[in-house]
Amino acid sequence: MRSKIIFKTMKKYSLPELNYSYTDLDPYISEEQLQIHHQKHHQAYVSGANLILEKINKSRIDGVEIDIKSTLKSLAFNIGGHSLHSLFWENIMPAGEGDPKPSGKLKEMIENDFGSFDNFKKEFSASSLSVEGSGWSALIYDKEIDQLLIMQIEKHGNNTYPGAKILMVLDLFEHAYYLDYKNERAKFIDSFWKIVNWEVVSKRLNK
Ligand code: MN
Repeated sequence: MRSKIIFKTMKKYSLPELNYSYTDLDPYISEEQLQIHHQKHHQAYVSGANLILEKINKSRIDGVEIDIKSTLKSLAFNIGGHSLHSLFWENIMPAGEGDPKPSGKLKEMIENDFGSFDNFKKEFSASSLSVEGSGWSALIYDKEIDQLLIMQIEKHGNNTYPGAKILMVLDLFEHAYYLDYKNERAKFIDSFWKIVNWEVVSKRLNK
């Protein structure tokens, strides 16, 4: 006979607040674009992940089996989406408020590992432009070889280097830019460079 499992607390993911208002990233990201992206799209990943956790929890309690393979695939998509958006909101900020370029150790590493800051921008932009369909570009730090690398994330997790420490991400799902830029992804990428929060990227490297 199956023993009954009771869980006292059901843990949940939650939508983080932004460190700026929805109008603050204009003209690079409009109020409407940012608000829908945060309140609808990001929220959907949070709700999706929580719903799946609930479903898993329920099956532990009532013993009704779930399709574990498709459930975990869907859970990974939603948790991945939630984590990446949380990183993304933090590594952008209102234009003109911080350093327009990286400094300190981050600057040194970028110049060392990519040849120059401009070359890094070129490579990261090319990665961002060529993400197939929906995905992300990420700057990551690989501890083993003590080097910065670019990682192209398909959907919210495919194609990644497990263990990579993510320093900076750019969302290339159409929902991230379509209201403002339509099909012109390159223009959105140009705008991204104007609102990168290099201080946050540096902090992630130094942590
Ligand atoms: Mn997004």
